[in-house]
Amino acid sequence: MEVCGGHTAAIHRHGLKALIPSGIELVSGPGCPVCVTETVYIDHAIQLAQRDNTTIATFGDLARVPGSCGTLNGARSRGADIRIVYSPLDALRFAAKNPKREVVLLAIGFETTAGPIAETLGQAIDSNQPNFKVLCGLKTMPNALRVLLSDPETSIDGLILPGHVAVITGTEPFRFIPAEFGVSCSVSGFEAIDLLDSIYEIVCAIRGARPELTNRYCRAVRDQGNVAARKLIDRVFVKTSSRWRGLGEIADSGLRIRDEYAKWDAGTIPVHVKQSVDHPSCRCSEILRGAAKPIECPLFGTTCTPDAPIGACMVSSEGACAAVYQFEDVAPYA
Ligand code: SF4
Repeated sequence: MEVCGGHTAAIHRHGLKALIPSGIELVSGPGCPVCVTETVYIDHAIQLAQRDNTTIATFGDLARVPGSCGTLNGARSRGADIRIVYSPLDALRFAAKNPKREVVLLAIGFETTAGPIAETLGQAIDSNQPNFKVLCGLKTMPNALRVLLSDPETSIDGLILPGHVAVITGTEPFRFIPAEFGVSCSVSGFEAIDLLDSIYEIVCAIRGARPELTNRYCRAVRDQGNVAARKLIDRVFVKTSSRWRGLGEIADSGLRIRDEYAKWDAGTIPVHVKQSVDHPSCRCSEILRGAAKPIECPLFGTTCTPDAPIGACMVSSEGACAAVYQFEDVAPYA
């Protein structure tokens, strides 16, 4: 399994599935940020967007993810002020220039994204910017992998570990994978040669029956990770349980804003979020666990396409369904 959505996109872009022997099957995992963000988060963001004098700042993909009653883009077409940002700092600058508006930054992603969000939140705290808030849906990867490997519905022989996450965490938090589960894993970069190298290392370890963790992205990933980034993160966030699409509630797999900084926490704004619902035929939850393939979804390529996604995995280029739709020559499920 390639855990990271960036790896899913790279594997398809480089046509690697056609290059590896038929005995090796690659399946996508839960490492696409918008894919694992639960519908309730989108519903919550839409409720916030409908408040007076409120601006929502978000990365572009998230605005296209279906919630229970439409997308953030849909809310924008009905008049909500939703702005796409390319850096979290853009949202803070907008807040400083528009003191009469409450600016809510939608924060999803993994350890990689947590650093820039933490830096932005830290600047908001230091400058006491009162009209800037963060709706925190950040997640952390190691415990999600623990749940995945314990799932009897999946049969994963090896893991290609997320290179960008490991830049921040280092390799240490992943050592339990061979030690506790006997599963080999390899931190990989994003070039074709990086991925092939990691797959080769994993297969050699399986053949030799010596489960191990290898770091094949050592030009970017150090064993100790990025200590400075983790300090930024620890200053403003604390670990919490988090709900993942497909994996459910996982202890210590998310980040929340520390209590002392609650005034910058958009989660404290009272809004009413109804029971969230997904499309009944969407199989994103199984796909994110490697328990189903995109083409096994009855909506794939017919009702659900990248132009009109029904489920989260069809939104981003890092989503398993979108990658298969774009790069694999497969007929829709019949
Ligand atoms: Fe969900 Fe669409 Fe993928 Fe089906 S094809 S699992 S509806 S994203």
